[in-house]
Amino acid sequence: MPQFKAPLRDIRFLVHDVYGFAKHYAENGHDEIDNDLIDPVLEEAARFCENVLDGTRVEGDDVGSKLVDGNVITPPSYKKAASAIRDGQWIGICSNPEFGGQGLPHSLGLIFHDLAESANQPLCAIFTLAQGSMRAIEAHASEQLKQTWLPKMVSGEWTGSMCLTESHAGSDLGLLRTRAEPLADDRYAISGEKIFITWGDHDLAENVVHLVLARLPDAPKGPKGISLFLVPKFLLATNGSLGERNAVTTAKLEEKMGLKSSPTCVLNFDGATGWLVGAPHNGLAAMFTMMNSARLDVAFEGVGLGQLSYQGAVEYARERLQMRAVEGARFPEQSADPIIVHPDVRRMLMTQKSLVEGCRALGYFTAMQLDIALGKDAAKAKDANDLVALLTPICKGFFTERGSEVTDLGVQCLGGHGYIREHGMEQLQRDVRITRIYEGTNGIQAIDLMRRKVIGSDRRLLNALLAVMADFFAANRSHRQGVLVKRAEKAANDWSALTDTILARSSDEANLPMSAAFEYMEYAGYVCLAWCWAKMAVTAADAMEKEGADKAFLQAKIDTALFYMDRILPRTLGLEVSMLADTKSLLALDDEQMFMP
Ligand SMILES: Cc1cc2nc3c(=O)[nH]c(=O)nc-3n(C[C@H](O)[C@H](O)[C@H](O)COP(=O)(O)OP(=O)(O)OC[C@H]3O[C@@H](n4cnc5c(N)ncnc54)[C@H](O)[C@@H]3O)c2cc1C
Repeated sequence: MPQFKAPLRDIRFLVHDVYGFAKHYAENGHDEIDNDLIDPVLEEAARFCENVLDGTRVEGDDVGSKLVDGNVITPPSYKKAASAIRDGQWIGICSNPEFGGQGLPHSLGLIFHDLAESANQPLCAIFTLAQGSMRAIEAHASEQLKQTWLPKMVSGEWTGSMCLTESHAGSDLGLLRTRAEPLADDRYAISGEKIFITWGDHDLAENVVHLVLARLPDAPKGPKGISLFLVPKFLLATNGSLGERNAVTTAKLEEKMGLKSSPTCVLNFDGATGWLVGAPHNGLAAMFTMMNSARLDVAFEGVGLGQLSYQGAVEYARERLQMRAVEGARFPEQSADPIIVHPDVRRMLMTQKSLVEGCRALGYFTAMQLDIALGKDAAKAKDANDLVALLTPICKGFFTERGSEVTDLGVQCLGGHGYIREHGMEQLQRDVRITRIYEGTNGIQAIDLMRRKVIGSDRRLLNALLAVMADFFAANRSHRQGVLVKRAEKAANDWSALTDTILARSSDEANLPMSAAFEYMEYAGYVCLAWCWAKMAVTAADAMEKEGADKAFLQAKIDTALFYMDRILPRTLGLEVSMLADTKSLLALDDEQMFMP
């Protein structure tokens, strides 16, 4: 069973050496957050995830959540873990202090996610959703709704859910049918069925605050006719204490491939009392307020599960004895050498390492931009927002695709022992699979990147990111690690040229951009990671010169950067050829020809 050890050295390297979080906070309105505050937060988060959350992951998968007499019952160990999450104030870590939150920047909250997703991703979703709901309420709800509902959500006494999906409306929310009828006062009666609602009901908190998308009677058809409502499981008495049960019931829990302990609910709203959040017919826009941060959180589910899978694979490969090393016995006194000596096992482990650490580096950069985008300096916020807009679909799509790849390699490293349950590696592969589907499928992320962010901005957002990269390349071409810098620079230039080609050809070949979208997202991810690996190599080489440097760790960073450039970045070549191929073969078969029994 992989036992989670927080990758604190890697995180500290990014936070202190590569990005300088303390300086970033000082420059962006958080000068109270220095290294004396950052380090204890990191250490406490690591302790919590290793000692409290990690022990609950396997039991959660074995026991699962169950629907008993209309109530969701979670695995026994979850109650203690949930109260520890509350006591540690982890849910409100980035929330507004006005409602009892700690007000820390988003980037610090994301590090907690990074660690917690490794320790127990299905349980973690309960606070990811609470945080997302709180952000939407804070940004759009009336003052009265905020004062009524936020403090107990921030403290973790109540949780939140996001009720968007209906059986016929998934990616296309414009099709949704749930209705909202105005009542005599400021309340509405909400009726309809929502499916696939994560942590839509459970026994870990006193109340669940649902955010529900529904249509008002006068709503125009399509996405412009959707409004957002706050609909609690329990209504409140006049003194604010829990009152009667609202007309929301859990009809069913889905049986699924992974995420066994995270209840995926079919919820029926039968004239349930709700309140409008934001302006009428503006529900999708209100939901999109929290999309960037929510998508980054899901991206880190890919990183966190990948991290744990990598740790499990390394640990096993150091101990499992099979056959001899290519150049002769490495440990002649043993019956065989450990499999970590074999080049093909190295290929798997290095692929895992370079992808997980590369994604973490890009994710932290994106989170820093999110800090600035949410800050008070309007000009800086606008620029940062442009970067976040471009990078969010790349992080969500690319990190979760790689999460699947990395957890798959983790199973493979253990051979048959990876496939059976005993070692806990197959759970990671099952649990990570959903991250490519929810919070907008990766197909939809790719379309968002291509259509809205690249073509829609006429390349402006891409140019902004390439300019940030270009500054780094110009400053470091003649560095000792300049060879790696130049390889990343070439990849960035190739990305720019590829984009021009797609845009130029799209006027004659209307299907080209959408046919290429998914591979374009993958390509973008590989180039961004090349830039991050070049930065890490340069930083590591500089840090190596300092007294007391952690040389083994820093050299491993430089060597992993080289591995990434040699063996992972070339994947872009195949992607480019495929993307620029004629779209005819992709679209030639008619619907009937697709399967002819
Ligand atoms: C375990 C789990 C938890 C979930 N949690 C929640 C939750 O808490 N709240 C909530 O509201 N929802 C939740 N969902 C729903 C999830 O967000 C949806 O499943 C997802 O958005 C996709 O919708 P769909 O399943 O209807 O697939 P569809 O929209 O039917 O898509 C099917 C396929 O078609 C592709 N596709 C669709 N349209 C296009 C297009 N225009 N171009 C190219 N490809 C396209 C998709 O990418 C996908 O591959 C959850 C789902 C699961 C399984």
